[in-house]
Amino acid sequence: MCIFCKIVDKELPSYKIYENEYVYAFLDINPCALGHTLIIPKKHFVNIFDMEEQYAAEIFKAAIHVANLLKEKLNADGVNLINNSGKEAHQAVFHFHLHVLPRFKDDTLNFLQPTMKVDSQYLEDLQDKILK
Ligand code: 5GP
Ligand code: ZN
Repeated sequence: MCIFCKIVDKELPSYKIYENEYVYAFLDINPCALGHTLIIPKKHFVNIFDMEEQYAAEIFKAAIHVANLLKEKLNADGVNLINNSGKEAHQAVFHFHLHVLPRFKDDTLNFLQPTMKVDSQYLEDLQDKILK
């Protein structure tokens, strides 16, 4: 059984933030920010590529709740929602999880920095490739 399944089953300890029939949310043991929370489905899915839509919807509903909780209780100014799916995307625990990362004015975390310069032809060709 994977470590997050063990957390759901209470075989491993965790600091619960929210729970319902479908999902479980708990504090990340190695936080990147104050209040860094993970939301996981109670059913084992490896990552986004084998996720069931019903669980995906429940994860996102829980994200709304958790984000508001962190905003109200920790005075977060914003949140980043992050999922790493696949080894190359830096997924380390192979049970789907959504990171809810509270953001604070003047914090130094930096995500989604542009790395490519592209033009409209490039974007049009890419759109064709993805959609055809
Ligand atoms: P990933 O890189 O797979 O998206 O992130 C895995 C996350 O799980 C990391 O942020 C890591 O700190 C967290 N994590 C790993 N093992 C445990 C654990 O046993 N308990 C908790 N609460 N978090 C964990
Ligand atoms: Zn699992």
